[in-house]
Amino acid sequence: MTGPMSADLEELYQSIILDHNRRPQNFRAMPEASAHADGLNPMCGDQLTVWLKMNGDVVEDVSFQGSGCAISKASASLMTQSVKGKTKAETEKLFAAFHAMLMGHGVAADLGKLKAFSGVSRFPLRVKCATLAWHAMKSALDDAGV
Ligand code: ZN
Repeated sequence: MTGPMSADLEELYQSIILDHNRRPQNFRAMPEASAHADGLNPMCGDQLTVWLKMNGDVVEDVSFQGSGCAISKASASLMTQSVKGKTKAETEKLFAAFHAMLMGHGVAADLGKLKAFSGVSRFPLRVKCATLAWHAMKSALDDAGV
């Protein structure tokens, strides 16, 4: 995508974020997890915990719980959907592409629904909201020792 977003696309992206904020996916604790990590974004008041269940180096299951703004919650929800079933390397590659998009460094084609957060690059303070769950997931992934 090059020029400014069309109004239709912007509306679609907003509805994806609002929908995931209202009905977050994989929103539960996971007692049988391989690892978990907490994330805190004091600038906005977002806090969450991410749980990971690994099968070898594949993310077999991932969940989160927490409270915060719509961006942080929707991003956590979409993160869980995006990394489930992926290897550690695939997960890290996806996070790098997601982070690059938020920094305004281009939108990778394989980001899928994560493109809904492309508009966040215009609001630098919200980048921490959008990446909070991803950083926690990365910490849990490192703790899992795969
Ligand atoms: Zn926030």
